Amino acid sequence: MRNNKNQKSQWQPATMTIHGGKQPDQHGALVAPLYQTATFAFNTTAEGSARFAGEESGYIYSRLGNPTTNELEARVAQLEGFPAGAACATGMGAVSAAMLAFLQQGDHVVVADAIYGCSFALFSHLFKKFGIEVEFVDMTDAENVRGAMRDNTKMVFIETPANPHLKIIDIAAVAAIAHERQARVIVDNTFMTPLLQQPRKQGADLVIHSATKFLNGHGDVVAGLICGSAEDIEMIKSTTLKDMGATMSPHDAWLILRGLKTLDVRMERHCQNAVKVAEYLVQQPFVRDVYFPGLPDHPAQRLMGTQMHGSGAVIAFELHGDSQDAQRLLDYLELITIAVSLGDAETLIQHPASMTHSPYSAEARARAGISETLIRIAVGLEAADDIINDLAQAFAKTFVIDNTKEQQQGETVSYG
Ligand SMILES: *Cc1c(COP(=O)(O)O)cnc(C)c1O
Repeated sequence: MRNNKNQKSQWQPATMTIHGGKQPDQHGALVAPLYQTATFAFNTTAEGSARFAGEESGYIYSRLGNPTTNELEARVAQLEGFPAGAACATGMGAVSAAMLAFLQQGDHVVVADAIYGCSFALFSHLFKKFGIEVEFVDMTDAENVRGAMRDNTKMVFIETPANPHLKIIDIAAVAAIAHERQARVIVDNTFMTPLLQQPRKQGADLVIHSATKFLNGHGDVVAGLICGSAEDIEMIKSTTLKDMGATMSPHDAWLILRGLKTLDVRMERHCQNAVKVAEYLVQQPFVRDVYFPGLPDHPAQRLMGTQMHGSGAVIAFELHGDSQDAQRLLDYLELITIAVSLGDAETLIQHPASMTHSPYSAEARARAGISETLIRIAVGLEAADDIINDLAQAFAKTFVIDNTKEQQQGETVSYG
């Protein structure tokens, strides 16, 4: 069939975001049809029982599989360079389904120390409850992973660039150490997308995404994806996804298929805008540090062109001042929205210590270097000058008021 475009693995990623995994449609629909159905009718009881027995292929029930969702799984898996994918209700659904499918009581997991706040909470609280031991290590030095590996280490979990400092982990170096002990390596690739980083090339066994972010890109879906070998994905689909049930809605899959078509052009603009914003921030007198893989002195530069093919659009920066200055700066913004999440058309800004990383204990936050004056900005697709002008007016208001406060000690200062 002419519109069966499944096999063209030589396509470049920009083409794959539009055509990858495309299923033939009986009416020749250009766009993947939305199969908004819970269940699928069997022609005969024999057909139904053959499908349940796995003797015949075909759909049964949307928690077990759905044509729209399958098209998305195939497309993202192709982009990541893996044979198979599994769509999940959320990014956290993807993290938990991918890990719990291979873990049991008594197992040990080695995890990067600075990761997404809810992944941290899942590993440090929930896993513990089920007898899975977790060790957090600073993986910016891969040798720390060697020191943490044990006989019962089954998985090594990496997030790079790591939330929220954009710390970089050398995936190939960590994967080599993990594989010496036959542990699976799982990489959260949300910040990079498969266009900027394909962890499989560095040895990852499983890659997960919060599709809520860049993959969908329009801020209207919460979703996740797992990519891996056919066997691993089958294991995940037939256990944690089937029986714990964090599967993706076909409607969400349909929206992400739509969002993916512009991933390449969006990432290009996201990266360009982020470089401009980072260069602006570096010059600000009230900014102490800027963490951004696109800056010339960032450790990411060592892996640019090999592991990484772009800076991404998430920047963290540290202010001179205190947590009130950080909060005031955010409150003065007019265009930039105070919100968690990233990868949307809208530029979003947040305060990790009180927002995304509040699941960390104060001690764990201090260890991970998440200070009260750390701010994370997820640069969107607006005109870069408008984003920078908004930051400029907020900086002016925040720090002028601060000066006034010091000069007029004892007087009442209104912060508006
Ligand atoms: C948002 C995010 C998650 C969780 O994804 P949800 O879709 O919100 O469940 C996991 N990892 C990273 C890096 C994220 O940014």
